[in-house]
Amino acid sequence: MSPLVLYDNYTRSLRAFAPLVADAPVGLYTCGPTVYDYQHIGNYRTFLFEDLLKRVLLWNGYRVRHVMNITDVGHLTSDADAGEDKMEKGARRTGKTAWEIAALYTQAFIDDIRALDIVPPDVLSRATDHIPEQIAFIADLEARGYTYRTSDGVYFDTGRQPDYGYLARLDREGLSAGKRVDVGEKRNATDFALWKFSPADQKRQMEWDSPWGKGFPGWHIECSAMAQRYLGDFFDIHCGGEDHIPVHHTNEIAQTEARVGTRLANFWMHGYFLLANDAKMAKSAGEFLRLGALVDRGYDPLAFRYLCLTGHYRTQLNFTFEALDAAATGLERMRAGFHALPHAEGARADDALCERFTAQLNDDLNAPRALALAWETLRGDLPPEVKRATLKRFDDVFGLGLADWVPSEEAIPDAIAALAKARADARKAKNWAEADRLRAVLRDAGYDVEDQAGGYEVKRQR
Ligand code: AMP
Ligand code: ZN
Repeated sequence: MSPLVLYDNYTRSLRAFAPLVADAPVGLYTCGPTVYDYQHIGNYRTFLFEDLLKRVLLWNGYRVRHVMNITDVGHLTSDADAGEDKMEKGARRTGKTAWEIAALYTQAFIDDIRALDIVPPDVLSRATDHIPEQIAFIADLEARGYTYRTSDGVYFDTGRQPDYGYLARLDREGLSAGKRVDVGEKRNATDFALWKFSPADQKRQMEWDSPWGKGFPGWHIECSAMAQRYLGDFFDIHCGGEDHIPVHHTNEIAQTEARVGTRLANFWMHGYFLLANDAKMAKSAGEFLRLGALVDRGYDPLAFRYLCLTGHYRTQLNFTFEALDAAATGLERMRAGFHALPHAEGARADDALCERFTAQLNDDLNAPRALALAWETLRGDLPPEVKRATLKRFDDVFGLGLADWVPSEEAIPDAIAALAKARADARKAKNWAEADRLRAVLRDAGYDVEDQAGGYEVKRQR
């Protein structure tokens, strides 16, 4: 069988994957949503890439322990430490409390990932449920001499780490403090907040006591603390979107190295961006595309899943409605093609095709080629029941729900339904002439009405 090879951004290389502990579940941590608003479809491209990774690990026979955080405090409007807490800002925007919007958008996220057929994480952990772990982490860093205080918080001193920024290959000289960059009270431009103090003149909705004063944790510390809590000091794979490379993941690594001497995860993998009109897709830009907006326009969420499978996770993908239409058509044809194949008890997937499928996915998750193989399978000349069994197995990775799909009864237009209702009313009023006239109108429009006990059914003529 082809070995699983994945691109690790820490070493900037393709590496053969093997779990750190043989026979133990693969430890997988994926950075979750910041729940101050709906997620946009760009976010979901990253969650779908992570779902693909997880399904490919499962396809290879590994068990997976998947942990995802919910960022419900501490993520400021700039990924560095400037600006306001997104949650408090979201609360102001909506007139709800920060706790209410966290609950609202967490549920919206859970609903969306279900609609996208994303396998739920084993642990979905809220930052606000893990404040003691984060405080303990910071206290440990303090005891090791990695922290200092400013008037607005406790900061991590990146100057103490010679290889700070290795993940992002940061040019530290270029960034170094005091020269051209105004760092305020910070010692180095790259230093980041571990704990922020509540403003003296303001009561925050989310704040906690700590050894340093009332306040809230920084965004980076939550992931290090929760990853360590659930997966240990050094686990298999850590993922997020490409924007996490220079700041968030760089800082997660810095803290963990300072505390326990590891880079937290053996593999660091990143999903590349979904662009809108070739530009960054950002919630903060106001209008943004959420999954619900696609559903409102009549798209099946799995058409978006299909679209994401058509691009390799390490290349950016430009979102257009033309591309989504093409994906929706592809999905529909694949479903219809699958549906037409006969199910036969005991039919087995074709070994040679499964091996080729493995080879493509194990080549750093080459979903576009795996999808092309599915089409080749559908169009090829294997016995139909073998095609069906093979595609059904492939769908364990694709997650397109091929076996669950049934053709929807053709929808009856509202105008036709209204005519049928008028005919039923006429019958009730014993106005037989009018009922017959309406039946004829419906027939001419291509629909038949069948009267049944207690009602009627309208059917399109075949
Ligand atoms: P957030 O809710 O901002 O914390 O982001 C959730 C996830 O979406 C993170 O892994 C981000 O890196 C990722 N992400 C943000 N914007 C995009 C985008 N346009 N395309 C793909 N992934 C994104
Ligand atoms: Zn994170």
